[in-house]
Amino acid sequence: MHPAPATTIVGAGIAGLTTALAMARHGVSTRIYERASEFHEIGAGLQLSPNATRLLARLGVLDALEATAVCPQAVVLKKAKTLSPLAQIPLGAAAEMRWGAPYLVAHRADLQKALLERAQREPLIEIVAGALVESAAFDEGSGVRFRLVRDGRREDVRTRLLIAADGVWSHLRHHVRNAVRSRFTGYIAWRATLPLDEALAAGNGAIEADRVVAFMHPNFHLVAYPISGGASINLVAILPGTVPLTSWTQHADDTFLRNSLALTNPVLGRLAARAENCWTAWPIHEVPATGAWAHPEGMVLIGDAAHAVPPFAAQGAGMAIEDAVVLADLLACHRGAPETALAAYEAARKPRVNRVARRGAFNRFTWHASGPVALARDTILKARSREALMADFDWLYGFDAQIAPQN
Ligand SMILES: Cc1cc2nc3c(=O)[nH]c(=O)nc-3n(C[C@H](O)[C@H](O)[C@H](O)COP(=O)(O)OP(=O)(O)OC[C@H]3O[C@@H](n4cnc5c(N)ncnc54)[C@H](O)[C@@H]3O)c2cc1C
Repeated sequence: MHPAPATTIVGAGIAGLTTALAMARHGVSTRIYERASEFHEIGAGLQLSPNATRLLARLGVLDALEATAVCPQAVVLKKAKTLSPLAQIPLGAAAEMRWGAPYLVAHRADLQKALLERAQREPLIEIVAGALVESAAFDEGSGVRFRLVRDGRREDVRTRLLIAADGVWSHLRHHVRNAVRSRFTGYIAWRATLPLDEALAAGNGAIEADRVVAFMHPNFHLVAYPISGGASINLVAILPGTVPLTSWTQHADDTFLRNSLALTNPVLGRLAARAENCWTAWPIHEVPATGAWAHPEGMVLIGDAAHAVPPFAAQGAGMAIEDAVVLADLLACHRGAPETALAAYEAARKPRVNRVARRGAFNRFTWHASGPVALARDTILKARSREALMADFDWLYGFDAQIAPQN
């Protein structure tokens, strides 16, 4: 049996790395076990709203991220059929002024790299790559034993607190009594990136180099925004479908996607065709935030492992970052009484994550609406002032997880 630091994290994704950095700010050392032996460019674009970027700034990650991220000037909502704009929510300087931190769009790999490089400079953080954590068991009163596989060999390790940041398909979730399993939502996210000039040429004015553009249609929605310092455009189209796999990087037959876009509007069809063979299918799985997140003997779920919210509010990474900082603050505040900290973490985070999930469900309903509902949506969006459109996001983007009541 090998000892590990008192706090061990499983998964060096967004949640795991942010937790380690937030714990280090409190002088607490952690070891992270990550199953991947190398950090590949997994994923595609992410939107990072001010509720997340203000926390990244405090952790010393924002400067590095801003070197590759893009600060879009607005989110534009358009009808996919006609490409006509319905509403424009100002971002850029207006967002920073209103919500106190920038709204950014970035490649997931750039966020992970910024977090990883910051973590590698931190002496209190040790990262063990190529280590798959298989299972865990509780030793009454003395923490958690877990088994990992590294270089083809199995090792048993003991720790006081195991933080499971192992994503939506968590291997550890079932050890938490009354945790909820992940389930397929019936939606596929098709993702592709195109060089900026190719995307702008195919988009023929429908997409823009400095904006997030969302196209709404009863059968799908498509979002396009710049990433990688503005060198590429990230495309994500969300459609009902079935891809019976649990991975985020499946190449799959994109004919249905390309036809759906082309039949709606030829410009969108050209855009989809330009990315032919680049599209990857991400089956969207969710973990409702209603289950238990913590085991009092010393295990806690965080990020997608606890509550994968479908991407309709673009807040999965944001919620993982908020979780990480709140958990670290509460563990520091209740030093010596981790079970109190874990209960407080669950109580603090659940209402927020549930509200975000409800907002995502509302977005899915209205963005994919047809008939009279779509008509009402269009009328309301067109009538709303920019101020009213921004005010609608104050609770979400203006939120500061570190000053919200939680202790
Ligand atoms: C289509 C789509 C679009 C999205 N868009 C946005 C967006 O615009 N904005 C936003 O904020 N979020 C977005 N998200 C969500 C966001 O990507 C996730 O919520 C976020 O990555 C969750 O971070 P995590 O650290 O919890 O999990 P992950 O990023 O999945 O990290 C889990 C880590 O754990 C490791 N791991 C897993 N199992 C083990 C094991 N047994 N042992 C050791 N290591 C293990 C994995 O290798 C991985 O490194 C989107 C998601 C989808 C699917």
